[in-house]
Formats: sequence, structure tokens, C-alpha cells
Amino acid sequence: MSFDYISGCPVDERVIEAMVPYMREGGNPSSVHSHGFKAKQVLEESRASVAALVHADPTEMVFTSGATESNNLALIGYALRNKEKGNHIITSAVEHTSVINPCKFLQKSGFEISYAPVDSYGVVDVSFIEESIRENTLLISIQHANNEIGTIQPLEDLGKMAIDKGIRFHVDATASLGKIEVNVEELNADLLTLSSNDIYGPRGVGALYIRKGIKVQPVLLGGGQERGLRSGTENVASIVGFGVAADNTQKEYGTEAERLTKLRDRMIEGILRIEESYLNGHPEKRLPTNVNVRFSYIEGESIVLSLDQEGIQASTGSACSSKTLQPSHVLTALGLKHEEAHGSLLLTLGRHNKDEDVEKLLEVLPRAVERLRMISPLYRR
Ligand code: PMP
Repeated sequence: MSFDYISGCPVDERVIEAMVPYMREGGNPSSVHSHGFKAKQVLEESRASVAALVHADPTEMVFTSGATESNNLALIGYALRNKEKGNHIITSAVEHTSVINPCKFLQKSGFEISYAPVDSYGVVDVSFIEESIRENTLLISIQHANNEIGTIQPLEDLGKMAIDKGIRFHVDATASLGKIEVNVEELNADLLTLSSNDIYGPRGVGALYIRKGIKVQPVLLGGGQERGLRSGTENVASIVGFGVAADNTQKEYGTEAERLTKLRDRMIEGILRIEESYLNGHPEKRLPTNVNVRFSYIEGESIVLSLDQEGIQASTGSACSSKTLQPSHVLTALGLKHEEAHGSLLLTLGRHNKDEDVEKLLEVLPRAVERLRMISPLYRR
């Protein structure tokens, strides 16, 4: 049983079914014959579905290979194309590495980057951002919700502030899409990153919303596909899958979010009964699918291994960086000490989780924690 949806969502059967014919066919949207025309048509239908999910116009949507590429295109593409307007970017300390590393790259190319701190719940410091804005500020890039701790950011305020000051606003909505409402107008986003797998679509496909009138320099150069913004023959089957996943999400996410919020709250309430256990992230402004907790005296990794022996999959932090021994930069940004960050367990809920799964976890986890504490040299009763 998986509480590790963050590492990858299973692809919806309806999505797979829709993709299969396009995996067999070799239609290239750039070809002038009928197969090419059909491929172009389904590509545009998917673009309309993905755009509708975030209340955008299809002409504002560029398909990419996933959230990493979309974040790179948003940051590097916008910064390089508009550098005559300014060279200062504001982001936060808890962004995904696919935002932080492009910022580091831009810093080496002469840009200045300010990293907004977060409070102990992971909420970005809006007044820091306001005070950091200067003449040469070009872009603000803040995630909608955090993938590790689930904290939802106050983006409406930030978006309004960016508009008032004439600064462009990029939102990484990878973690929030399909879990809470993502609306480019309400968020006042000029650029917005989306990923297919997080809504039960295939991996390796995503999109970047680029508001009409905004100029972005392509990062991938070649045949000029996607209106010159993203060269490379389109991955038609995956894009079709992304479109179907977007349609399904639009219809289903409301009731599913309600169901998962109940499971999440039951899980948090049950886990926090364990002595010296603490919730990471915001108690209310949090994704319906996210439970991130820490336990004193033991390591998250050993809890994950213990749970795995009971047939339960979980993770210790950001799945993307869990191969390094460094504690997660998100958890340390909350002000947690290294040992506290290392004692964290991330449980992410999804479509196939049922009440019984949560009850099983709540039966297994306290015993696992107790057993690990007994052998921990740090634990003294
Ligand atoms: N941004 C956020 C918030 C993420 O959680 C992730 C990882 N799922 C990414 C970007 C990068 O996604 P991908 O590895 O699919 O490109």
C-alpha cells in the first residue's frame, strides 16, 4: 500500500487507454499528410484541456518534458529575454531544486537572486519580498504549495503585489495541481508550471503557462516546435494522456480533495498521539494529500524501512533529493536542526488510499517508532 504518491502517481487506466493508439501510430504534428494532421488536432485538443484546468487560453500553453523543464524555461527563458528590464529575481528558500538551480545558474550569468525566508510552518515571508523589491527586480518565483511539507503559500497577495509593482510572477504549481484549485487569474500568475504525472497522467510531460504578451527565450533550440518556444518533435501520446488526465481532474478533484482531507486529518491526529512526534508544515494551509511528521531520537530512513517490511511505502523527504545524505533544504528552512529534519517521515496520500489503509498505518507506525527508539542510543526513557 502506497503513501508515497509524491514519488510518482500511478497512471490512470483511462489515460493509458487514450494513449495507446498514439503510441502505435507515428503521426508527427509537423507533417502535412493526414496522419500529421490528426496528430496536430489531438495535440491542440490536449492543449485546450490542460489550459482549461488552470483557466488559461490554449494559446498560452507550451508543452514541455515536465515540471523541471517548465521551471527552467520560466526562469532562464524569461530572465534572458528580458534582461534589459532588470537583473534581480526574488524566490524562496523552499522552492524545488528545479527553481533553485536555474536561479544559481542565472546568478553566475550576472543576475542577483534574493531568497525569501519562511516561518516555522513554511509560509514565505511576504514582507521580506515586498522590502526586497527594487528598481531592477524582474521576476518573483514562488511555488503554489510545497511538495515536501504541503504548505500552501499566500499567492494571491504576492501576485497582486507583483502586478502593482510591474513585476512578473512565476508560480510552480506542480505540487498543487489536482489537489487544490489552480487558477492563473486568481493567482495573478504570468508564468505557471504544470506537470502531468501529479494528476495521474504519464511521466515526462508537463507544460508552462505563459500569459499573452510575455516574451520568453527558448531554452531548447532546434526545429521550432511549440511556436518556437520548445523545439523537439512533440510527444503526442504523452500529451494526449496529459489532456485526458486534465479533463478527469477537472471533473473529479473536488470530491477527491474532500475525501483525502478527511484521511489526512485522521492520519495526523492518530500519528501525533505518539509521544514526541510533531507535524512539519502548516496545520491548516496544507495540501489535502500531505502528512509530514517528525519523531525525536530516530531517523526517517529507518522508519521508512520498517514500514516497507509491513508493506507500506512512504518516504523521508523530497524523493528527488533523498539519495543525498544532506537533510532536506525545505526542512532546514523551517528552522529544524539536522537531527530533527532527519527524523522526518513523509506520507503522501492519493487516489487508491482508503480508510483501512490509514487505520493499518496507525496500527503499525507507533510500534515501529517504539522499536526504533528502543535501539536508539539517543533515546533514554
Ligand atoms: N516542482 C515541484 C514543486 C516538484 O514537486 C517537482 C517534483 N515532482 C518538480 C518541480 C520537478 O518535477 P519533475 O521531476 O517531474 O520534472
